[in-house]
Amino acid sequence: MAEKRDYYEVLGVSRNATDEEIKKAYRKKAIQYHPDKNPGNKEAEEKFKEAAEAYDVLSNKEKRARYDQFGHAGLDGQPGPDFSGGFGNLNDILRDLFGGGFGGFSGFGGFGGFGSGSGQNGGGSQRVYRGRDIRVRVQLTLEEIAHGTEKDIQIERNVPCPDCGGKGARNSSDIKTCPSCKGTGQIRRVVNSFFGQTVSYSTCQQCNGEGKIISNPCHTCSGTGLVRKKETVRVRIPAGVEDGMQLTMTGQGHGAKNNGVNGDLLIVINEISHPEIKRDGNNLMYTKVISIPEAILGATVEVPCLDGKYNVKVEPGTQSGTVIRLKGKGLPSVNGYGTGDMYVKFAVWIPKKLSKEDRELMSRLSSSESFRPNPTKEDKNFFDRLRDMF
Ligand SMILES: [Zn+2]
Ligand SMILES: [Zn+2]
Repeated sequence: MAEKRDYYEVLGVSRNATDEEIKKAYRKKAIQYHPDKNPGNKEAEEKFKEAAEAYDVLSNKEKRARYDQFGHAGLDGQPGPDFSGGFGNLNDILRDLFGGGFGGFSGFGGFGGFGSGSGQNGGGSQRVYRGRDIRVRVQLTLEEIAHGTEKDIQIERNVPCPDCGGKGARNSSDIKTCPSCKGTGQIRRVVNSFFGQTVSYSTCQQCNGEGKIISNPCHTCSGTGLVRKKETVRVRIPAGVEDGMQLTMTGQGHGAKNNGVNGDLLIVINEISHPEIKRDGNNLMYTKVISIPEAILGATVEVPCLDGKYNVKVEPGTQSGTVIRLKGKGLPSVNGYGTGDMYVKFAVWIPKKLSKEDRELMSRLSSSESFRPNPTKEDKNFFDRLRDMF
């Protein structure tokens, strides 16, 4: 993932800026870099997005605290501003900031074209397209999750056509302004009625809202400005991720026509269940089966942890169901807050088949005073506490 700038630097505020100062700073940046004001300007586009992301974090108490403590790493795997689905959250932030009727931005209609390619911004400005997001699933073992990993992911994405440079036609003279809408992509209708004059807009049918008509489309891309390309993307997956979690690689999704903004690559984590170890958050659970003599006399047994096998002591007189904790042998927390533990439950194995000698031995033991069940109060409390753990 690309190097990220410090969020405070992005908004140009000090680290101890108040909420009000952060809001003010973001408002300034959002106005400066708004796509409606900078049509087709990719750099402004990126700055706009960057500021939105910074504001998303710094305006949220919890995210800001995590960022202050751990930097960008503290936010890995956390849901950021939702850039998919047409800048939904962003619209909310902006609406909140500017209060719906912010002048000059045509009541946020401009975002429609920006987000999903539908709708048309006002003021006749150039439409900025955004490529679709690409969603891929990555299968990870518990071992990979424990240490974090890198995966090479094969994707097929839309990239600007190399033959027309993403314009849809080889010669710029083949691209003409739509005569019906004069390039705005919208047809304006004025209706006079008893109540006064009403103005309505609809998408231009001739150019499909593009504002342009291509008379001689590029053969390579059939005028779409995009071609499919197979690519390999290396994804760094931080330790401690969970099944269903989604990582976002900004700008690694589909490209957009007219050299618009790339969509994002969304990586959905799928956890392959471990044959023996169960996961509960950052903690791990493992059941170790021990023999009756081991439970009675005590022993040292092997337990498979994610970083190798460990020798664990079974105390003499261990009850079946006893749980011990191996501190720090669980999974690291994805936001950097410590590491979970591994809980090992001992289950005593009771044989079904016995040799003649074993049977005689067991009958002798059954009459022994020490083998009569007699749980102490302490044992009972212990079982009560453990009942819900597994
Ligand atoms: Zn038109
Ligand atoms: Zn082309």
